[in-house]
Amino acid sequence: GQCVLVCPTGALGERDECERALDFICDPEITTVVQFAPAVRVAFGEEFGMPAGTNVQGHIITACKKIGVDIVLDTNFAADVVIMEEGTELLTRLKDRSRPTFTSCCPAWINFAEIHYPEILPLLSSTKSPQQVLSTIAKTYLPEIHGVKPENIRVISIMPCTAKKDEAVRPQLTMDGAPETDVVLTTREFARLLRREGIDLKDLEPSAFDDPYMSEFSGAGAIFGTTGGVMEAAVRTIYSVVNSKELDQIELEQLRGFEGVRAATVDLGGPFGEVKVAMVHGLGDTRALVEKVLAGETDFDFIEVMACPGGCVDGGGSLRSKKAYLPLAIARRDTIYNVDRKANVRQSHNNQQVKTLYRDFLEAPNSETAHTLLHTHYTDRRREMQQTVKDVWDDITMSS
Ligand code: SF4
Repeated sequence: GQCVLVCPTGALGERDECERALDFICDPEITTVVQFAPAVRVAFGEEFGMPAGTNVQGHIITACKKIGVDIVLDTNFAADVVIMEEGTELLTRLKDRSRPTFTSCCPAWINFAEIHYPEILPLLSSTKSPQQVLSTIAKTYLPEIHGVKPENIRVISIMPCTAKKDEAVRPQLTMDGAPETDVVLTTREFARLLRREGIDLKDLEPSAFDDPYMSEFSGAGAIFGTTGGVMEAAVRTIYSVVNSKELDQIELEQLRGFEGVRAATVDLGGPFGEVKVAMVHGLGDTRALVEKVLAGETDFDFIEVMACPGGCVDGGGSLRSKKAYLPLAIARRDTIYNVDRKANVRQSHNNQQVKTLYRDFLEAPNSETAHTLLHTHYTDRRREMQQTVKDVWDDITMSS
């Protein structure tokens, strides 16, 4: 990175993630890569007084360049890659009659499952979240195409989510002992960082992504930011894989709305016939649904889980609108749906950069390379959370 603006100094007592991000950006030896989530671009403008739901994707790219970031990539691109991996995994599980499959892109849901319902972990998709997929590709594929040393790359991600910070330090999401994602900034922190640098988002001219490998996204990748979006995106792709043609009705209205649990039946055709898909948001409704799944009382094939009511458009790292059905969240969600409607490409498998990634690097969805790089595993953490101080002490003394 090359620092364009003056880095704030003398704040040792209050060093936070903004400072760490700036340290990387200002280090001439380091190539900094920034990624930002689907929901960030429709909520971030509000931090600078812009109307709710304003799409500030181009402003964020300009702001990143202005503070000296080397490469700006799009988490939306990785969302498309997630669909390729998760969709393929789902079809395999359907063939094996293993059901339901739960999505795995929300780290608060992963923590919840590991701590409260470890018996359900085998049903979770092993595909990493878009944040981790992008970081991994940025440290493996990107060095090949840009001629950068992998050890000199640091990935900073801007997320609507505090749980993403927790995800970034999971021991299973490391490469050669270093985290895949180096710094996670919430939208609130990124706004603070820009203000410290004297940047007002409103004053910036929007610019476009300039990386030709990892920044194009389909409408399917964009709708990851709102509840039901991952499911809609997955259905678009698995239908096409099974039928070698596109689904006619790609907007699944039954999955859109505000109820805690929403479901739809899709005729996948081929050997699969009708499949039942569902989405749940908010941990109260999630707990109730998981209990039903464990009791064998549901017949769902695929379930999307988002811990935040309303999904990432109302995530815990952004200005909260408190209730998913209140105007801020609705405006953000509507902008995301419009991005999809206006997109030239609306299915993940038709994203040209995704096709190139598989052709030149990953070979095929769920290939050995894809499995090594883009999949993860989960651990039973129930005991860890129930440990008393005495248990911890016993563990330490027994292992020493
Ligand atoms: Fe993070 Fe909430 Fe989105 Fe889950 S739903 S990924 S906790 S912002």
